[in-house]
Amino acid sequence: MQIVPGITLVEGAGSNSNCYLVECAGGINVLVDTGMEDNFLRIKEHAKRVDVIVNTHCHYDHVGGNLLVKKEFGAKLLAHEADAPYISSGDGEQTCASLFGKVLSAVEVDGFLKDGDEVLGATGLEVIHTPGHTRGGICLYERKRRILFSGDTLFAQGGVGRTDLPGGDFGALVVSIKKISLLDVDVILPGHGECVLSGGSEYIRDVLNSIG
Ligand SMILES: [Zn+2]
Ligand SMILES: [Zn+2]
Repeated sequence: MQIVPGITLVEGAGSNSNCYLVECAGGINVLVDTGMEDNFLRIKEHAKRVDVIVNTHCHYDHVGGNLLVKKEFGAKLLAHEADAPYISSGDGEQTCASLFGKVLSAVEVDGFLKDGDEVLGATGLEVIHTPGHTRGGICLYERKRRILFSGDTLFAQGGVGRTDLPGGDFGALVVSIKKISLLDVDVILPGHGECVLSGGSEYIRDVLNSIG
């Protein structure tokens, strides 16, 4: 489903994360997260081309399909430098694959992201490091249209990511929500559940007030 022009939501079925196909500047097609391994067919249904996968964080429900998507489309895989090692080694504990009763295949990460980067330097997607749910969690911010891909940092129904899993840190999460509350946001596209289609900044400030 096209949620805003140029952005297709592949809705997370079951425990799968939402995945977003983003047609970026310069004709680069970015896939934000891949879901679990069994999500691959749904991605394939929606995607004609994937040039780059960006993982919002290392959890299995977001990265389990990386290997299949890489193989099918010859896509590059990018993740924050603090979570990338768990993805590339297939760390069952840190990625929570074992919690899901799954095994994560090791997969090469082709590039490490850090706060302030623009994905591939040309996509208009800025990397905002938002640790708390995991150490290397990120949001992606499309400044021009004020769209925030919030991963599992922030959800649309008042929730924030859980911090009781490996790498979780509630204090860090509050700082991260503060950080994104300073951005000018209209649309929020989270890692699970519904999206916020307008008034994003106000929404984030309300969430911050409820937890901070
Ligand atoms: Zn998730
Ligand atoms: Zn997560």
